[in-house]
Amino acid sequence: MSDFSVSLNEDQLQIQKWIHDFAEDVVRPAAEEWDEREEFPWPIVEEAAKIGLYSFDFIAQAMLGDPTGLTMPVALEELFWGDAGIGLSIFGSSLAAAGIAGNGTPEQTMEWVPQCYGTPEKVQLGAFCVSEPDAGSDVSSLRTRAVYDEANDEWVLNGTKAWITNGGIADIHVVVAAVDPELKGRGQASFVVPPNTPGLSMGQKYKKHGIKASHTSEVVLDDVRIPGSCLLGGKEKLDEKLAKAREALTNPQVSSGKQPAMATFEATRPAVGAQAVGIARAAYEYALQYAQERHAFGKPIIMNQSIAFMLADMATQIEASRLMIWRASWLSKNGGGYTMGEGSMSKLMAGRTAVWVTERAIQILGGYGYTREYPVERWHRDSKIYDIFEGTEQIQQLVIARAITGLRIE
Ligand SMILES: Cc1cc2nc3c(=O)[nH]c(=O)nc-3n(C[C@H](O)[C@H](O)[C@H](O)COP(=O)(O)OP(=O)(O)OC[C@H]3O[C@@H](n4cnc5c(N)ncnc54)[C@H](O)[C@@H]3O)c2cc1C
Repeated sequence: MSDFSVSLNEDQLQIQKWIHDFAEDVVRPAAEEWDEREEFPWPIVEEAAKIGLYSFDFIAQAMLGDPTGLTMPVALEELFWGDAGIGLSIFGSSLAAAGIAGNGTPEQTMEWVPQCYGTPEKVQLGAFCVSEPDAGSDVSSLRTRAVYDEANDEWVLNGTKAWITNGGIADIHVVVAAVDPELKGRGQASFVVPPNTPGLSMGQKYKKHGIKASHTSEVVLDDVRIPGSCLLGGKEKLDEKLAKAREALTNPQVSSGKQPAMATFEATRPAVGAQAVGIARAAYEYALQYAQERHAFGKPIIMNQSIAFMLADMATQIEASRLMIWRASWLSKNGGGYTMGEGSMSKLMAGRTAVWVTERAIQILGGYGYTREYPVERWHRDSKIYDIFEGTEQIQQLVIARAITGLRIE
């Protein structure tokens, strides 16, 4: 166990600089083009793979080889400072990787996680498929069904997944489905759908408000047959879990276990918050410089308290958000877990900070800020998703409220 410290070690400082340089030299200059094109930025992801940033090795080193828990948020803040749409295109596969590592056996993790990234010569993608048209926040109501075909030792998946990052263009789809719908979230399991499995196809591709470079689509599962070995965690563990959940229905003394999707979200929330901080910092730095250069009434606008105080508040919110994220990341690695919903708190705070800071940045740039000639309007559009995905603002409040009260707040 390491002590919580905000001093980054040598490795973390090196990673921070390495990713910052990539974000500044490669990501930021490409951001406007891919936002306008609204397409997956393959050349940039390939560049990231060439330098080893988009790779299983980097993720394993950042997540597993770091006892402090800070490497991942540090890396993500820098990457998303460059651009959030491209950043998510580079990071999106890691959601699938986290879904596999969080629910799979060590053998399954070693088999499937590297395939979420491929190699620099053949880049592959992963997608984590939970949400559905009628089940976003309410992940316990998934309609996608997984039925076991015992004779062939195969699972058969049917359903439609909605708003899936990398959906349909990924090589590896991790699908959360209901095995026993009566048990709601406790009756669900996670499955890996291997590359080129018949029956899996891309549905509609969404046209979005922001993070346009990131690909978001429906995923349609039509009699998708996968080997029994693609059930993450294995059949024995699932049967035990289902038996326990059934018992818990009648006996409140028995714990019913965790939902697979929730376990993944809990672990990834601070990392998602760090992305929001990257966007907020980009907008703040831009506005700070602009306010020093722009003159009105014969002086730089920053000489007005109303502008300088806005910047002071923006800087304060960003620092506070980062501290909460680092502490939540450290806690999830070292502190024996969260007691007050610290992961949700950090993501709630960072999402709100990003939306507010980017909006203030537009204000500081005035009319220019409202045009697409300047990046702050894009950052503002990009920031809004952080109030929505991986749990909306209201769902984070629910998690925190339940954690601090111990009550089943609805
Ligand atoms: C760009 C993008 C990428 C995404 N990527 C992925 C992905 O890779 N994988 C994946 O599985 N999903 C993904 N999602 C889905 C995302 O996680 C959901 O959109 C999100 O969880 C919200 O669900 P919903 O859209 O169904 O909203 P709803 O759940 O319908 O919520 C609508 C409103 O009601 C509020 N609300 C709902 N329930 C409650 C409650 N109990 N108390 C108070 N308020 C409530 C919400 O906060 C929200 O304001 C993505 C979404 C987007 C937009």
